[in-house]
Amino acid sequence: MNRDPLVPLVSSPFRHYINGGWETGATTGVSINPSDLDEPVGEYVRADARQTDAAIDAASAAFREWSLSAPQRRADALDAIGNDMLARRDELARLIAREIGKTLPEAHAEATRAGQTFKLFAAEALRGASEPFASARGGVEIDATREPLGVVGIITPWSAPLAIAAAKIGAALAYGNCVVYKPAEATPACAAALASIVSRAGLPAGVFNLVMGSGRQVGARIATHPQVAAVSFTGSVENGTRVLQAAAARQARVQLEMGGKNPFVVLDDADLDAAVEAAVTGAYGAAGQRATSASRLIVSRAVFQPFVDALQARLARLTVDHALKHGTDIGPLANAMQLERTFDYVRVGQQEGAQLLRGGVALERATRGYYVEPALFVGEPDHRIAREEVFGPLAVVLPADDYDHALHLANDTAYGLCAGICTRSLVRARHFRRHAQCGLVTINLPTSAVEHHAPVGGRKASAYGATDAAFWTTAKAAYFAS
Ligand code: NAD
Repeated sequence: MNRDPLVPLVSSPFRHYINGGWETGATTGVSINPSDLDEPVGEYVRADARQTDAAIDAASAAFREWSLSAPQRRADALDAIGNDMLARRDELARLIAREIGKTLPEAHAEATRAGQTFKLFAAEALRGASEPFASARGGVEIDATREPLGVVGIITPWSAPLAIAAAKIGAALAYGNCVVYKPAEATPACAAALASIVSRAGLPAGVFNLVMGSGRQVGARIATHPQVAAVSFTGSVENGTRVLQAAAARQARVQLEMGGKNPFVVLDDADLDAAVEAAVTGAYGAAGQRATSASRLIVSRAVFQPFVDALQARLARLTVDHALKHGTDIGPLANAMQLERTFDYVRVGQQEGAQLLRGGVALERATRGYYVEPALFVGEPDHRIAREEVFGPLAVVLPADDYDHALHLANDTAYGLCAGICTRSLVRARHFRRHAQCGLVTINLPTSAVEHHAPVGGRKASAYGATDAAFWTTAKAAYFAS
């Protein structure tokens, strides 16, 4: 396999990949390194509606051949993509770190997960067997198969630019669909790197297309286009709702993975040191910019003060600095909007009477960047910082009278993505697992402990629609006279 570095292939300007070729766009933008605002990562191109349509047309034209292709061919292509990503994970990790400010270890973990995800779907491509059913009347053979849908639109956020794209693109291609991929505008270099790797896997032209640009133009065009059979979206509730309405209006299939306001419960029997570590990783890892971040720390009154004291001491030892610097625990926020959003919530928290224990201020480092000292509040359940997704390094601690109260507070949210609990009680852990209203429960682990091969559900405002084969394929039953 060709192992030349990606950099020349994804050198600025980062371009669209449409119908097997690289294309410039109608307008351009610049991706900036949030650890060093004086370092542009590169220029990128933006598509208009015409170019988005061209990508959809190319995917549509490629569908027949790809949907009928041998499963082994799809498996081989996905395996090659996965292998290439894993071989290049250092390079990809640096790109993620430069483009959105994840620390190198965080970025490395993401690049690895993305590569492994493609390999997982390589295997999945071979599992599309039909399922036989015994006929109730006799003299008939029945089988149920799943067929690909057609062109699928994939719209992703900036917060995990390779891992989320890998899960959606891998699934779409494995089941025989063609892809029009629209990444977040903030991550064009990561998207171009991914497209560059996919472009070398020998897929027929048009099977995979990358179109960059704004959500309002490119994303909305994908959601409304009559030739797009299904849309898989990850991002905010606000934009997910727009996509849902556009897709539903034309009866297209849609699947949404959205925000969270995840609780992390610490009971009085918990190992406090372990609880503090899990809380720090869950709340402040990736600077709190994960859908699975736990920003509501619900702590039994019996251990409230020792937990808060230990957490404050732990936060004081964290290093916030350049994402590429060795020893950095927390990188900068990914962009100016995230910075402002975090400061807005720090102000809102204070205005509503929550007690700011530490952090929430801008930090100066050797390079100009979006650095923020992790913020810790003690608050009330009805404070906005305890109810709304901040998507930044801000957590609020809420006292709980007992386990039942803690469970009530955990579920008292519009969201339902994940929930964590720290306890030594198997009974309570099992009860919490059963009664937490969310798609992912962690026990004595950070809420962000997601692995690539296990399904993540989601309830309430956090998710809509299936994420498994049922979403990427359509069922067909066949009856044969025997
Ligand atoms: P966002 O909603 O601003 O953007 C997500 C994507 O949607 C981008 O590609 C954007 O360009 C596009 N978009 C915007 N408006 C659109 C429209 N009208 N039509 C079609 N597409 C449109 O979200 P973001 O700021 O990029 O990401 C942060 C959000 O994503 C947070 O809420 C976070 O919780 C969520 N998220 C969820 C998961 C999950 O697995 N549930 C994972 C990561 C991030």
